[in-house]
Amino acid sequence: MPVSEREFSRFGGNTACILLSFRNGRVAILDAGTGIRKLGNDFPARNIEQYDNIFIGLSHTHWDHIQGFPFFKPAYDPKRHFTIAIFGKGQPSVDLESIFETQMLQEYFPVPLDKMGATLTFFRHDQACYIAQSGIRVIASRHNHPGGSYGYRIIEGKTSLVYCTDVEHGESIDARVVSLARNADLLIHDAQYSGDELKEKRGWGHSSWEQAVVVARQANAKRLALFHHDPEHNDAFILNMERECQKRFSEAFFAREEMEIEI
Ligand SMILES: [Zn+2]
Ligand SMILES: [Zn+2]
Repeated sequence: MPVSEREFSRFGGNTACILLSFRNGRVAILDAGTGIRKLGNDFPARNIEQYDNIFIGLSHTHWDHIQGFPFFKPAYDPKRHFTIAIFGKGQPSVDLESIFETQMLQEYFPVPLDKMGATLTFFRHDQACYIAQSGIRVIASRHNHPGGSYGYRIIEGKTSLVYCTDVEHGESIDARVVSLARNADLLIHDAQYSGDELKEKRGWGHSSWEQAVVVARQANAKRLALFHHDPEHNDAFILNMERECQKRFSEAFFAREEMEIEI
């Protein structure tokens, strides 16, 4: 749920969306939460051309990861092409395009998906590894989350970024997540709850910041971005968690709106 109150302005109240800019000049987007609205508005200022195709990789299709798409202006540009993709083994057979169509049915939104304008390709790649034409590699691992969710390791040359949101570990840390995050230059990990809150939220599909730190340490990740803030956590609450977190892992920080990280 996006939040707009003043006490959320420091970390930001948008739902999940990340822009990846590769050294080879290509860009890609992770998740299409409400953050994608501003990202789309910023396309001209950022000189994002790449008209042939831009991948939008989704961790899964829960509402907070797709709800920004109807407000993503570049998808109304007939010159553009986007590939909306989920990677990884064991995917449900539900048609990805129909999920996007449904959230834009007239009952919910005035413009239907097929009238947006850009060419949209929907792509479910049911394999653990995908290599894009540009040479970027994606390794995908399915998470424990209601309805399933995928974590991605994205590799360009020797640099790797690992995106693990909407993941619940259970009694012990999920070894698959640690393996995906091994020696990552940057690990972006779900940290929706504090350890105390997690006790009340078992089965909700998320992690505590303490678990994210354990994953980062076990995996020997260089940096850790704590992600997917709870809509009830204001700036003061998150700052307090961040201070505690940095005592255990100095290269950790809670993700902030429009934060740019070079790896
Ligand atoms: Zn989810
Ligand atoms: Zn989510």
